Amino acid sequence: MYQKRVREENLKKMFRYIHRAGTTNRLTIARELGLSPSAVTNLAFELMHTGVIRERGYGQSIGGRKPALICFDEEWSWVVTVKIGAKMVHAGLANLNGKIKIKRVEAIHSYDPPDVVRQIVTLVRSLLPHSKQRILGMGICCTGIIDTENGEVLKALNLGWQNVPLKTYVSEYFEWPIFVEDVGDTGALGEKWFGSGKGVENLVFVTLGNGIGAGIICNGELYVGSQHAAGEFGHVSIDFSGPKCVCGNRGCLELYASAPAIVREVLGYLDGGGETIIWELLQGNLGNLDCKIVDLAARRGDPFALEIWKKTGELLGRAISNLVTLFDPEMVIIGGGLSLTHHAFFDVVSHTLELITMSLRTKRVQVKKAFFGKDSGLVGAAALIVENIFNSKVEWCRVEEAALTDTISG
Ligand SMILES: [Zn+2]
Repeated sequence: MYQKRVREENLKKMFRYIHRAGTTNRLTIARELGLSPSAVTNLAFELMHTGVIRERGYGQSIGGRKPALICFDEEWSWVVTVKIGAKMVHAGLANLNGKIKIKRVEAIHSYDPPDVVRQIVTLVRSLLPHSKQRILGMGICCTGIIDTENGEVLKALNLGWQNVPLKTYVSEYFEWPIFVEDVGDTGALGEKWFGSGKGVENLVFVTLGNGIGAGIICNGELYVGSQHAAGEFGHVSIDFSGPKCVCGNRGCLELYASAPAIVREVLGYLDGGGETIIWELLQGNLGNLDCKIVDLAARRGDPFALEIWKKTGELLGRAISNLVTLFDPEMVIIGGGLSLTHHAFFDVVSHTLELITMSLRTKRVQVKKAFFGKDSGLVGAAALIVENIFNSKVEWCRVEEAALTDTISG
């Protein structure tokens, strides 16, 4: 049992190393991971047997034989990724490097859980004929508090869900391993495995959109807390006597700095007859107002819109600085729809954050935009499968393992 666990851990470590390196050789792996060359040879044999890594040519000799190069095959299998947002459902097929090959997005028709599940199933089925590889599994992300062990959404305020056995529902339609995770957490995983945080062991990912969430990577692993409720950053109070939030708390960050909060503030200004080119951009229809319009107004130099982004950026910078003070990450990655607005907004967030945290640190914290923009969560849902390839959680591993044992004993 102990040996099996050590083998699994080493397989995982080695797979992660090769995945990150892209191409490497056995001696380098042994040196970097502190494993014996014979252990690496055995593990490489197992990995190669599955097909997820393969040999490709030879590297430079450092005296002696040229080392055989080992590389990761990102097209070995594909995965299904799904994101249930506050308003839309996204589904895609991705390779093992999180590259989304095809994606479809639809507005959520009905928030009743079985209806959302049916919508996901229809979307995914429409994508499957485009798959050029076998499907290894399915990762689903959704806002809220998730029991990842059972794939149950314990609470999702944006969707009005409580105790929804999402994995059980979806499993009725598909036979693959299915993983369910919070969107802030998958965002962090996606950026760590494939994006701006590749190779970074301690990072904080913040997603800014209809809601505000965070994912924390601590020593290379996702930090989820005792009840998987860590990272509910939008519900951190910034004004204890502020307005009441849907979570029951007062003055939550989401009430001041999310996309709906920005829209609310602009509507208030327009109601008071304030001067701004937003009137013009709306072409008389207040119903068209969203953050894209406020962004467009800022890009055209509208003083009111610029002020809104500056104020929101400073507020977010201050709020995120608290995460940096608490977790001491090397890097903060900012994603979600709001991260795609004009540069000035991102600059204000990162400048404020750096300014506040500087005095408590010996090194500046790096602040980066999410590599995948508003898709970090969706890409990260693919990472849920990749991360679990060498855990016994992914069923195929056991099948391949049985085949391997047969080969060795036969
Ligand atoms: Zn709240």
